[in-house]
Amino acid sequence: MRRDRRGTGSATVDPGPPLRLLLDSAALAANWRHVAALGAPAACGAVVKADAFGLGAPEVVARLATAGCRDFYVATWAEAAALDPLPPGATLCVLHGVRTADMSAAAASPARPILGSPEQVARWRSTGRACDVMVDTGMSRLGLTPAQATSGLLDGLCIDTLMSHLACADAPDHPMNARQRAAFVAIAARIPARRRSLANSAGIWLGPAYHFDLTRPGLALYGGTPAPHARGLAPVAAFAAELVQVRHVDAGATVGYGATFTAPAPMRVGVLNLGYADGLLHPLGPATVAHAGATACAIVGRVSMDLTCVDLTHADAREGDWLTLPLDLAAAARATGLLQYEILTGLGRRLERVWR
Ligand SMILES: *Cc1c(COP(=O)(O)O)cnc(C)c1O
Repeated sequence: MRRDRRGTGSATVDPGPPLRLLLDSAALAANWRHVAALGAPAACGAVVKADAFGLGAPEVVARLATAGCRDFYVATWAEAAALDPLPPGATLCVLHGVRTADMSAAAASPARPILGSPEQVARWRSTGRACDVMVDTGMSRLGLTPAQATSGLLDGLCIDTLMSHLACADAPDHPMNARQRAAFVAIAARIPARRRSLANSAGIWLGPAYHFDLTRPGLALYGGTPAPHARGLAPVAAFAAELVQVRHVDAGATVGYGATFTAPAPMRVGVLNLGYADGLLHPLGPATVAHAGATACAIVGRVSMDLTCVDLTHADAREGDWLTLPLDLAAAARATGLLQYEILTGLGRRLERVWR
């Protein structure tokens, strides 16, 4: 029994969805502590844009604030509003800066914008409030050009953090890294700011020369592998799904779309309430194992939109039982050709986020 669907105390009780994203609070906090220690003495923030990469920004912020994180990053003012009220002592920055249409929301928000264009600087200057500033050192995405940043445009602004963003930090030997760092150092020498920040997750693994005063990890916190040599990060998210039904399949019968699997012998097949619409993308099928208690059960046939079949021949599991399916983001990215970021942000909204 979970929620009362009508909120009236009536007998109608919502059992909750038959599929979950199991989220590990201890792993999240351990990942943050790990990257914070790697980046120390720089402070370590947390990027929680896109609902903390799909895991749930309010829950992530609460847990990381408890772990000691103070600097949080979202993409938009709507994402900032969703985190109101912030935990005591936490600050929030809006990566996309501030549009004209955001000014009233920004006035009511404790968050500060990361200004990235002369238009944004002009807009924010009138508030007299502190800001962060993004300078572009090679990404050609958000940020003032070095010429704009050093033109006097920023004179008199109260800049908390001056930052730039690395394009190739996941490739430690890429010449862009040193080039962007040198450009950032040169600009930072000319612009007064309380702190300087350059490194995302992968940038932290580039070493102390990239840490400056504050790092801004995202992916690493959520169990991704930000760089080939990154170690010590634990998975945070796993799937869990209920068995919609359990059936007997005769030897020679096929399972699923395309009849890609033929039962070599009589088997018990479980049909899980989970599919590619939930983020279990079909190329993940062959490498994913479902766990019924201690028994590992292979996925058989092609993953469908809402359903996935598993071999329960050796498992003691019945209709209504829950199976768990670990999610290895690096392996999933290899299997699909997608980014680990896309695997995370593509986890479906039908999955009930359950933090342990
Ligand atoms: C998304 C983002 C980050 C976090 O990057 P990860 O690779 O997930 O660690 C850091 N800084 C900026 C400016 C970003 O846009």
